[in-house]
Amino acid sequence: MSKIHNFSAGPSILAESAFAKSIQDIKNFAGTGLSILEVSHRGKEFEKVMADAAGLVRTLLGVPDDYDILFLQGGASTQFFQIPMNFLKTKAAYTDTGTWANRALIEAKGFGEVDVVASSKASNYSFIPKDYQVPQDVDYFHCTSNNTIFGTQIKQFPDCGNTPLICDMSSDIFSKPVDVTKFAMIYAGAQKNMGPAGVTLVIIKKDMYDKMADRHIPTMMKYKIHADNDSMYNTPPVFPILVSKYNLEWMLSEGGVEGMAKRNQEKADLLYNAIDNSPYFKGTTAVEDRSQMNVCFVFEEEHIGLEAKFNEACKEANLSGLKGHRSVGGYRASLYNALPLESVQALVNVMETFAS
Ligand SMILES: *Cc1c(COP(=O)(O)O)cnc(C)c1O
Repeated sequence: MSKIHNFSAGPSILAESAFAKSIQDIKNFAGTGLSILEVSHRGKEFEKVMADAAGLVRTLLGVPDDYDILFLQGGASTQFFQIPMNFLKTKAAYTDTGTWANRALIEAKGFGEVDVVASSKASNYSFIPKDYQVPQDVDYFHCTSNNTIFGTQIKQFPDCGNTPLICDMSSDIFSKPVDVTKFAMIYAGAQKNMGPAGVTLVIIKKDMYDKMADRHIPTMMKYKIHADNDSMYNTPPVFPILVSKYNLEWMLSEGGVEGMAKRNQEKADLLYNAIDNSPYFKGTTAVEDRSQMNVCFVFEEEHIGLEAKFNEACKEANLSGLKGHRSVGGYRASLYNALPLESVQALVNVMETFAS
């Protein structure tokens, strides 16, 4: 079978080297003669995997020492309530820029007052609002760096003053450099751009442990418990952490997040140019807010009847995972780190051949 070009929005494409190394560890992990799937997470071999994975995150993103790196479970969706459970004392500020951002703020309402300072909901989340101030009388400000479903991305984070900035970076973490020192906390479900599903990355500034709300918080929901136990308070998601480690190693070998940014820019430019130059297709978002990770496009109104034909052409060219989310329709090409430029070229070729 010829190669499948994987544009899946998540779980998403990973580096081939991560698969090869993980397969080896399923058979014989670190010379133990046992599978990674059947050894204790308390053994020195897995402890090294955990330390290496955290070290790679620290190196790749330049995370300073006053931040902890945690590997948790429950997906980014658990962070939607774990964050307000820990840090929402009276009021928090949120931006409503997409389905995930909206879910996050709904969960926060269960713990206190939520000030939605900006929203693009009325325009089906087609842009990133910018004309707002981050309030200074709130416990934290929450935003979503990349709106996976709608294909918009924050290009410049707002000035937060003294308000702690918490960001859901599930779908663009490690895609480009980020100044971690601007954030009180960054979190990401692994399965978009870090590794397989089953582990959630949390990067948290240690001073946040002094800003906890005065309510009962179950032990498993306390960030500090996980920090004090090197993310092994309970059994961690051993295998997703292992695969993530190998995928992060691949990123480092390819020039780190600067290297990823260059790759991702090239891919996004190639595809957006093809969309803009095609009489058949158009983008669905404000041009200045276009995501480098998730490229959403639809047929121009007069060509909508051609969808079935185009889908067939994509299938023939081994292009997979292009169906747009039902809330946008059309197409979504996810260009996560591990997707090669040649896959984007294959898509562009189909678009151009189709037009002619
Ligand atoms: C996919 C996604 C989520 C949900 O992640 P889970 O790990 O499935 O809970 C949250 N936020 C963003 C931005 C996402 O893309």
